[in-house]
Amino acid sequence: MADCLFCKIVAKQIPAKLVHEDADVVAFEDINPQAPTHVLVVPRKHVPTLNDLGPEDEALVGKLARAAAAIAGTRGIGTSGWRAVMNVNRDAGQSVFHIHLHLLGGKRMGWPPFP
Ligand code: AMP
Ligand code: ZN
Repeated sequence: MADCLFCKIVAKQIPAKLVHEDADVVAFEDINPQAPTHVLVVPRKHVPTLNDLGPEDEALVGKLARAAAAIAGTRGIGTSGWRAVMNVNRDAGQSVFHIHLHLLGGKRMGWPPFP
């Protein structure tokens, strides 16, 4: 998609600190990290929100989760714990409309996620 920030990162038109890349998925450091590990895992395919997933995208979401788990393992937080967050639309605070999994970890987190 022409005007999408994460499509441009996937296409390497905008620089990012890449931490993983394969045929379907790209992962890079969040520019405004909220935890010692804050990595965004995105599909190469442009899908605006989880609401827009089609049946053909089911495997893609599994790939995001597996890539995140692998990265968490390499960061040494697989066992201590990490959180996967996918924000959808306004109330969740989604600001980039290309689905992305936030991989957060490296310190204790609270629950529930309300101020
Ligand atoms: P969300 O609010 O769930 O849509 O998350 C968007 C995330 O993208 C935020 O955590 C931002 O800090 C992050 N972000 C925005 N621009 C960039 C960028 N150029 N490179 C890396 N992360 C970014
Ligand atoms: Zn996109």
